[in-house]
Order: sequence, then C-alpha cells, then structure tokens
Amino acid sequence: MKIAVLKETAEGERRAAATPETVKKYIALGASVSVETGAGAGASIDDEDYRAAGADIATRAEAVRGADAVLAVQGPAPDDLAGAAPGALVIGILDPLGKRERIEGYAAAGLEALAMEWIPRITRAQSMDVLSSQANLAGYKAVLDAAAEYGRVFPMMMTAAGTVTAARVFVMGVGVAGLQAIATARRLGAVVSATDVRSATREQIESLGAKAIFVEDVQGIEGEGAGGYATEMSDEYKARQAELVSAHVARQDIVITTALIPGRPAPRLVSDAQIASMRPGSVIVDLAVEQGGNVEGGILGEVVERHGVKIVGHRNVPSRLAADASALYARNLYNFLAAFWDAEEHRVAFSTDDEIYQAICLTKNELVVSERLQAR
Ligand code: NAD
Repeated sequence: MKIAVLKETAEGERRAAATPETVKKYIALGASVSVETGAGAGASIDDEDYRAAGADIATRAEAVRGADAVLAVQGPAPDDLAGAAPGALVIGILDPLGKRERIEGYAAAGLEALAMEWIPRITRAQSMDVLSSQANLAGYKAVLDAAAEYGRVFPMMMTAAGTVTAARVFVMGVGVAGLQAIATARRLGAVVSATDVRSATREQIESLGAKAIFVEDVQGIEGEGAGGYATEMSDEYKARQAELVSAHVARQDIVITTALIPGRPAPRLVSDAQIASMRPGSVIVDLAVEQGGNVEGGILGEVVERHGVKIVGHRNVPSRLAADASALYARNLYNFLAAFWDAEEHRVAFSTDDEIYQAICLTKNELVVSERLQAR
C-alpha cells in the first residue's frame, strides 16, 4: 500500500499529516510512504527527517501517482489527486458540511473520502480523536495568546515595589479545550472560574481548582445530549445564564470562550454591553470564532479592540502550535489506519459495517454515501 503525504495548501495551515515517527510505523506495517517535498516545513520537520525515517521525498504529482491513501490535514483539491490509484482513500479534516463541493469532487474522481472529525466519541476510537487532540492544544494556546495580549501579569507577585494582583480568568465552555484552558491559566497563577451548560462539568472544573459558575434553579437544565455534546438550551435558561454571566464577566480580566453545539452556529455568549463592562486592557479569546463566534464583535483572523478590550479571533489555533499539533494529529491518523490494518495483505481493509468507518466514510464508488451528508 502506497501512502502519500502532501504539503498543505490552505492559507495559514502549518500542520503535517505525518511525522517521521508515524512514517516509520507505516513502513513497519509494510506500507511505502511518499512525502511531498516541504510537507513538514511548517511543523519544523525537514525532508531529510522523513527520508531518514524511510519515506521517499517527491514532487506533489509523484507522491500522488499510484497512491492508495492520501493523508492530509485539510483535504487537497480533487484535481490534485489525479493519478492516485482507483478508489484511493483521502483522509483528513475534510469539513464535509462546509466543503460540500469538494466532497462531491472526490466522489466524481472515484476517491474514498474519510472525514476524521466525524470519528465517533466511543472508547475504541479515543486514540483516533482528532477533535480532542487539536482542541486540547487550542485550549492551552488560547491562554498564552491571552497572556501575550494582556498588559498585566497572570500570577500574584509580591515585590519590593509592591504587590501585583493575580489575573481573573473566566472560561466559558468546558469541553476538551476549556479544561486545558483552565489547567493552563491555573499553572500561570491566575484566579480561574468556568461555566458550561453541561452540569457534569462542574466537578471537572472544581477538580482543577477553579470556581464553577452555574445557573442553579431553572428546571430541565441538563444540557447534555448525544455523545456527551451540548444541546440547545431553553429561553429561560439562556436569560438566567446571561444575567449570571454578565455580573461575573464585569469582574474578569480574561475571558476565554470555547462553546460549540454540533451542527449549529456557535452560541453567542458575550454581548457588546458585557464587553463594555470589563476593565480596559482586558482580553477575550474566542476559540469558536471559526464557527461564527461566541463573542459579539469578534472578527475571524483578527485581534480587534472594543471599549478598550481586545478580542482575539485567531484562525486555526492548533496550527499555531504546528509541531505538537502535527505530532498528535499524525498519531491519530496512524492509530486509525493501524486499527484497520490487514497484516497479511499489508494494507488497510475496512469492514463496511464498522461503526467508525460508517461514521466517517463520505464517498465511495463515485457516490456520496454518508447519511449525514445525504440528509442535507
Ligand atoms: P465542544 O467543542 O463541542 O464544545 C465545547 C463546550 O462548550 C462543551 O463542553 C459544551 O457543553 C459547551 N457549551 C455549549 N453551549 C454552551 C453555552 N451556551 N454556554 C456554555 N457552554 C456551552 O466540546 P468537546 O470538547 O468536543 O467535548 C464535548 C463532549 O464530548 C464532552 O462531554 C467531552 O467529555 C466528550 N468527549 C468524549 C470523548 C470520547 O469519549 N472519546 C472525546 C472527547 C470529548
């Protein structure tokens, strides 16, 4: 089985879909690996490192020629994959709902596209979960981005010139990214609080030494739906949450928002009036900015200032930590392929009734086969 690893072409994408470590592992499984020259540059991996691990370094067209699987971070254009083996796999974070035309292009080209972000959140698939591996890094980086924009310090400092108070950090949305943001802000010495609609997170917040800020007495507020994800909340809940949060936000120096609801635009959590209530020099980092944003006035790809408060809306935060993001992403891909590896044939063999395969397979035999896409 020939595996191709291509250089990412999306603007600002620095991650790579394989590292020398995973190249070695694929070769140990009996695959050959062809890496496009420069594929690792954004993640500080030289061509030579891949070569030393056993890969061929090739042009894009050479890498693709005859490939049985193309590994990507964001999916390559279907036209770039002409020359791949018939029915070749295209594996990446393919954004199936946002890039429908591209997915149809894969189908038309006879490619089998697999969307890693749709890996189900079941125990067996934890080591393949790209959303978790990347969100964890994003949560960490969000705190560092906030600290870098903040004109004050995070920890309390008692100096000969007097005492500096600790920063107050409020994390809204306590999934994988939010938990890492809490832990990171605590390590930097901030006073941390957090909120979520899922009451199960209260214990997690407290176990990290942060204060849980929750709406207490509204009926039916258990905001947890399928797979542990958040569900849309009632109007009464939303009003109560806004009230509680308003009073709290006004006293914060840093707010980090990470709230998402699968299949819907990100919920709006911080209003312009709430921003205006914060002390000038405060910083808000909106990790949901690519899904529409949790913060009013946040702009994708920019750091803007409103009422003296900076709103940070970086795109593709995991790519800002490209080396570690690539290392974890590449392992997620390897764990996925290795789980379906046929050791005798030295290739991947999916069983079509497998839960993971069914969830992520978008196209096959020139058709869009994903139920989630067909339902749209
Ligand atoms: P996510 O990125 O989908 O959302 C981030 C957080 O925002 C979630 O905690 C969500 O509840 C919260 N949120 C949504 N609307 C909100 C609102 N209005 N106000 C405040 N918070 C709001 O989350 P995620 O990191 O992908 O994690 C979602 C769930 O999946 C968690 O329960 C997590 O433990 C679980 N998970 C399971 C596995 C696994 O079993 N393999 C892996 C990763 C995550």
